[in-house]
Amino acid sequence: MSRSQDLLARYERSLIGVFGVPQLVLARGDGCYVWDSDGNRYLDLLGGIAVNTLGHNHPAIVAAVSKQASEMLHLSNFFTSPAQVELAERLVTLAGAPDGSGVFFCNSGAEAIEAAIKISRRTGRTHLVAAEGSFHGRTTGALALTSKEAYRSPFEPLLPEVTFVPYNDVDALRTAVTTDTAAIVLEPIQGEGGVVPASDAYLRAARQVADETGALLVLDEIQTGIARTGDWFAVQHTGSGGADPIRPDVMTLAKGLGGGVPIGAVVAFGERVRGLLTPGQHGTTFGGNPLAAATALAVLDQIEDGGLLGHVRAVGDHLAAAVEGLGDPRIQQVRGRGLLRAIVLTEDLAPALATAAREAGFIINPVAPKAIRLAPPLIITAEQLDTFVVALPGLLDTAQQSTRTRENPGARP
Ligand SMILES: *Cc1c(COP(=O)(O)O)cnc(C)c1O
Repeated sequence: MSRSQDLLARYERSLIGVFGVPQLVLARGDGCYVWDSDGNRYLDLLGGIAVNTLGHNHPAIVAAVSKQASEMLHLSNFFTSPAQVELAERLVTLAGAPDGSGVFFCNSGAEAIEAAIKISRRTGRTHLVAAEGSFHGRTTGALALTSKEAYRSPFEPLLPEVTFVPYNDVDALRTAVTTDTAAIVLEPIQGEGGVVPASDAYLRAARQVADETGALLVLDEIQTGIARTGDWFAVQHTGSGGADPIRPDVMTLAKGLGGGVPIGAVVAFGERVRGLLTPGQHGTTFGGNPLAAATALAVLDQIEDGGLLGHVRAVGDHLAAAVEGLGDPRIQQVRGRGLLRAIVLTEDLAPALATAAREAGFIINPVAPKAIRLAPPLIITAEQLDTFVVALPGLLDTAQQSTRTRENPGARP
């Protein structure tokens, strides 16, 4: 029995099985590569699901974590720290939020959504509108905004008064949102839903509907934020044609912000929204702790100093062009922006493709039966991406063979 097999057997005995059987036991990482506990190397094209912004073992993160650990790890929210204040200021500035805006820190994406829901309740309204195909997290409030039936039904009844509308359908949004709606909650690109972008026109319409009805516009940038799409935040793409980008009222962040250290954040745009939560109405023990805040500051510095916004756009476009340029009939299109991409297949090959890729040393994610999600570290190079693109047709062959063998076990390959 290999070290990995031993650990997987012990995993199955000692953990609650919500994630199924893990694919690998990973022991260490460096840059865009990770190694399993048997010493095999993989190119990490998933980045811990859009978390490992700077890859693994990045010197700036190691330095920030070490320095902060040597100074102070935790202090409770009776107190603040230089890192916490500085991070709040940086996020408000990067988001283009107006004077009077403010930040609430927490530890995860779902917690950021919970805070956004509580902010929305303070409008005095309770109706929420979310999109079909959405994913906003697994806590009970966030789950109420998550459309997937399999995630929801074992835990019903959930928070009531949530209407789901077809994504990217302006008319449906106009019909669903009324003067009783507390908030419209949308991902600018649906991540778990298969990397499906909202059109800029849809986001503009959502802003307009929110303004007309007095509902808050909550944009969930937990997966799309922090340079993932080549803008600091995906919503800023609405300004790419020269117009002013639209502003949400509330923006939720997590995943990539801490570069691997858990952190979530909610940005409340403007004095009015920020003032909806008053002392005593919300809280957290760990949220905004100096370790997470100092690490997030290091992530933001590296994105800025390393010119990563331009890099992400360039290598993301390179990846999409290279994959589409294969002209493989099994590949329908590449969706998404920057380094949040889905390779959409014409057949239900994604799970088998992920297995074939893993066996060949690539970590990818079958986000849907016909879609592979890629969300690699933002520091990945075009050359590293090309190693995967070159291998892709052969991996698709392997995936097709294994799928056919499974469907028809007697057939010769
Ligand atoms: C991952 C994700 C969440 C949930 O974040 P957790 O940290 O897993 O709670 C919420 N919204 C979106 C868009 C996400 O991608």
